Amino acid sequence: MERFDYLVIGGGSGGIASARRAAQHGAKVALVEAGRLGGTCVNVGCVPKKIMWNAATIAEHLHDAAGYGFGAIDADVDWASLKRDRDAYVVRLNGIYRQNLERDRITIFEGFGRFVDPKTVYAGERGIVADHVLIATGSKPSIPIIPGAELGITSNGFFALEKQPKKVAIVGAGYIAVELAGVFAALGSDVTLVARGEHLLQRFDDIIRKNLRAEIEAAGVKVVPCVPVSRVERAADGTLTLFTKEGEPHGGFDCLLWATGRIACTENLNLESAHVRIDAHGNIVVDDFQDTTQAGIYAVGDVTGKAMLTPVAIAAGRKLADRLFGGEKDARLDYANIPVVFTHPPIGTVGLTEEEARAQYGDAVKVYTSSFTNMFHALTERKPKSAMKLVCAGKEERVVGIHAIGLGVDEMMQGFAVAVVMGARKADLDRTVAIHPTASEELVLMR
Ligand code: FAD
Repeated sequence: MERFDYLVIGGGSGGIASARRAAQHGAKVALVEAGRLGGTCVNVGCVPKKIMWNAATIAEHLHDAAGYGFGAIDADVDWASLKRDRDAYVVRLNGIYRQNLERDRITIFEGFGRFVDPKTVYAGERGIVADHVLIATGSKPSIPIIPGAELGITSNGFFALEKQPKKVAIVGAGYIAVELAGVFAALGSDVTLVARGEHLLQRFDDIIRKNLRAEIEAAGVKVVPCVPVSRVERAADGTLTLFTKEGEPHGGFDCLLWATGRIACTENLNLESAHVRIDAHGNIVVDDFQDTTQAGIYAVGDVTGKAMLTPVAIAAGRKLADRLFGGEKDARLDYANIPVVFTHPPIGTVGLTEEEARAQYGDAVKVYTSSFTNMFHALTERKPKSAMKLVCAGKEERVVGIHAIGLGVDEMMQGFAVAVVMGARKADLDRTVAIHPTASEELVLMR
């Protein structure tokens, strides 16, 4: 048995951040990882996704260049070379993560971590004992249990595609579905987005949902709402056909991608031996301090099912290490988060939607909106709309939510999020001098 102060199971965003912070506080730390260091974000999430998003943005700009006098540029992406270079970048990051862990003197165990009791975990044949154990094993894509589901890929399979599909069906309406639909479409694939419900990005503010739907359709994505897929078949020509509950076929696809949700990775952990409870959705139950139902065992990140984003996993993991080893006994993450979605055009939001604010503050909510075409598109053939909404509450009009879609909002939202976290009022935005000509000035010029 090898003894440590802190054992982290899962070397992704939350696990690595927590392990390193604990080691920097002087703890003796071990980390168990079953796959590649960096977890979902680095290997099959944010990082390779943003590379693909960048490629799609370049494709759009090549198209836009004609409007700026460059003449028509007709360049197709070389998918295979893009994938090769993207994979090489990810491998470099894997190496950097390993170096950082080694620099902090963290012992890395390869293999699946498996509890035998609340303080003992095996990684393969090696037994590890620790006073404090963190579960940061993340989540994985789930696919529907219907006939033919195995004919489709998931976001993991998207990153393994060696060549660009010509005609893609994406099933789902969450951020992964709309992001990948935008990437495929901008790079020239024919895309159909099949959603079970009426809305894309169901939990986002109405201004985002409406504008995203309009823009994604203007970019050529066919949106098929309110269609639960009930089976999938491969036709004689090799293409795939999706059938609705009523038997209506949608066919001719050379790629089907399920973006129908994610489930917590707990199946290899033998949680029963650790007395750690999971909820009805399979997520590990934690309190505000990331404590599980078993003293000395904690969980952060996707495996808890809360705000499944990299910065959230990182921040929760660091706060936990500060509490356990840094003497900050009240340290915990405030889960008010900042989702940015890399659709085409991008989305940035912070705080409450209008609907949430009205549920919380009733009539004391005032909303300001703006809709415009970014000046970048003054000369381009494409005219995507930007739209923004400020949600203010109370007599003092405190800004409790900002929602924006359009060119540049992904980069602008971080600064505005600081203002919201600091309690900015509408009057504070009003007295801020605009930066002209930009899209962000709209947020300080709303009347
Ligand atoms: P992970 O990063 O998934 O790490 C968990 C690790 O645990 C994995 O390495 C896994 O191999 C390992 N593991 C699992 N079981 C065991 C076991 N029993 N023993 C040992 N190791 C184990 N978030 C953003 O903030 N911005 C984005 O743009 C964004 N884009 C995304 C795009 C896609 C396509 C996807 C799928 C996700 C995206 N996310 C994004 C979400 C983000 O990747 C996750 O929220 C984040 O990675 C969660 O971190 P984590 O530490 O909880 O888990």
